[in-house]
Amino acid sequence: MQRLQPVDAWKSLIGLESALSRTMEEHRISELPNYQNTVHRRGFIVSSLSAGVALGAGRLFGAEKASAKSEEYVLSGATLLSQAGNELDGSKVDIHVKDGAIFAIAASIEAPGVSRIDLSGTLVMPGFVDTHWHMWNTIARGIQSSAKGDFFATQKALAKTWTAEASGVGVRLALAEAVNSGITTVNNWAHNVRAREFADAELEAQLASGVRGRFSYGYPQDIAEDEVMDVDSLAATQKRLAELDNPLIHLGLCVRGPDRCEEKVWRAEWEAARSMKLPLTTHIASTAAKAANGSIRKLHQNGLLGPDIQLVHATHAKLDDFKLIADAGSPLSISPWTELEVGYGLPPLLEIAKSGVELGLSVDNMVLAGRADMFEVMKITADLAAGLATQMLPISLSKVVSWATIGGARGLQLGEQTGSLEVGKRADLIAVRTDRLNTSPVGSAEFMLTHSANPASVDFVMIDGKIHKQGGRLAKVDLPALLEESQTMISSLKKSAGL
Ligand SMILES: [Zn+2]
Repeated sequence: MQRLQPVDAWKSLIGLESALSRTMEEHRISELPNYQNTVHRRGFIVSSLSAGVALGAGRLFGAEKASAKSEEYVLSGATLLSQAGNELDGSKVDIHVKDGAIFAIAASIEAPGVSRIDLSGTLVMPGFVDTHWHMWNTIARGIQSSAKGDFFATQKALAKTWTAEASGVGVRLALAEAVNSGITTVNNWAHNVRAREFADAELEAQLASGVRGRFSYGYPQDIAEDEVMDVDSLAATQKRLAELDNPLIHLGLCVRGPDRCEEKVWRAEWEAARSMKLPLTTHIASTAAKAANGSIRKLHQNGLLGPDIQLVHATHAKLDDFKLIADAGSPLSISPWTELEVGYGLPPLLEIAKSGVELGLSVDNMVLAGRADMFEVMKITADLAAGLATQMLPISLSKVVSWATIGGARGLQLGEQTGSLEVGKRADLIAVRTDRLNTSPVGSAEFMLTHSANPASVDFVMIDGKIHKQGGRLAKVDLPALLEESQTMISSLKKSAGL
């Protein structure tokens, strides 16, 4: 195990935060309403911190503008889909955003001196929540097989010669695509952390992006089945994140779990997560052979499920398994596209829905999925359910939209902050154009979202009160530079991996 080493990048982030805390004193707080006062204050810190990191890294555009004092907007004239049963759902509304939070939602809001943003011709809704995404290999988009073999053999070959810098670029590319397609919260499933620098690079990219989410610290792809992951480096990362006090990003742990390593190993990793009070995520029952291990039942019997334990795929789990998962309060993440592509099979959506398990949706990875498109994930989820049931709409489209938003947020234990549009929650929202060839006329909001819209329909994206996409254009990303960097990086990695 490695000893803790100070990392310069982290030290500079921590220094930056104290400076920003001083700045914050000048801005607060007497005018804030009583609800979630702490959350408002923390929101200010993170917003400024993200902008500062972005400038320091020299990677993002628009950061200076975003950190200026105008943190208040009235978003005007969009049709509301709150995911919270607001009586104004389906009507045109104004949304007052202040200090990163939703301050008011009403038919009309007058706020003299506050910037108004016209969102007419759109549907405004909570940003999507992706619950399981291996972001590091986003630059390996489409390398689904090679002379080295199938997906897994190819990924392993690439992973061995991967670099920390490449992981950072992969995460930045993923986050840019997330924002572009309306995903405002992610669970970055970092399962190729080959040394602490890899984790630092991924985390730095998340911190700089201003996108909400979890960093699920992982292990090298080629780690032995009898080897425990580097828990000391995980602890160091936890300490540094605590010092940063960044409320947009929280830490978790991704592990191989009972289906993919030895019992003494996964038990040690489980114990590490619980003793450090970190949420844990693991793939499970993804094939019939793995499901035959009975891992879900074993975890349940040992008290090793719960709201802090997210299970992923469970493609071959049965209704009884899902009931155990639901009883324990463990959230589930499925990724229907990649589950098809890699040959896991059809997600058992009817059993999942029947069990009442807390479900979130995910894109999984760009190597197989091709693009980070929650609209098409929702569409295939809804339509697979109908195909499996051999009847129309066995699961309502509004249920599917809820899985992509508030369900995912609850599963990541972020349901109090995001996943629906409610006064007091953080302002993570998107506006989807309803006046385009592919979306108009709108038969129902849920059909439009699950069957008509696509990432190009996302006109406006706000995360924690910051504008990330406006007028259909990314506001904080130097896209040409990022794409060129990604291309250069993957070309070099393919060469070094002999692909
Ligand atoms: Zn996965």
